Amino acid sequence: MNFEMVLATNNPHKLEEVRQILAPHGIVVYGLKDLNIHPEDVEENGKTYFENALIKALSVKKLTNLPIISDDSGLEIEALDNQPGLHSARFAQKYNGHQNAITEILKQLENKDRKATFVCSITLLNVEDKPLRFESRIPGKIALEPQGETGFGYDPIFVEESSQLTYAEMTQELKNKLSHRGKALNKLLTYLKINQLIKR
Ligand code: IMP
Repeated sequence: MNFEMVLATNNPHKLEEVRQILAPHGIVVYGLKDLNIHPEDVEENGKTYFENALIKALSVKKLTNLPIISDDSGLEIEALDNQPGLHSARFAQKYNGHQNAITEILKQLENKDRKATFVCSITLLNVEDKPLRFESRIPGKIALEPQGETGFGYDPIFVEESSQLTYAEMTQELKNKLSHRGKALNKLLTYLKINQLIKR
């Protein structure tokens, strides 16, 4: 038996990554479009990544009985007071997309320390009577210039510490293994296994 869930996102890149990571465990992940679910637009005005993940998941809760997962991520840059952090999506919007946002970050970081962390908080609803929480923080630094062709968002400038590669220089398989989303989803998988909701 497959375990089915819906991912509360309209970001096709996130959906693809989550599917690739969970599919080998017999988990079928539906996007909102697959189920013809159209939640109202919500303001991600939480004070934490978890609160924002929950806001997104709750917007879908009255529209499905399936387990719902939602992910909120952010890039924290130490020398910029941990910005864009919680506001990473808004920061990219402000600069009309990630390419300009990356240029702006590189400008602001000139001659500054480049230490950074990619954060991911995932919530799972409709499994227990409370929302569950799985999180990961990946240390790294901001590259001197964009590097690599794969991925999305801030991938070309985030150099993951253990590999010294930007996310955009990694194969999708390696990014899924080392990334903030991959590690948080692994915690989710451990929970599902311990609770015998999945077998492998
Ligand atoms: P949100 O979690 O959808 O709110 O995304 C926050 C911001 O971080 C957006 O600008 C995303 O494009 C970006 N982002 C989220 N996950 C990743 C990732 O895995 N790589 C690069 N950028 C990401």
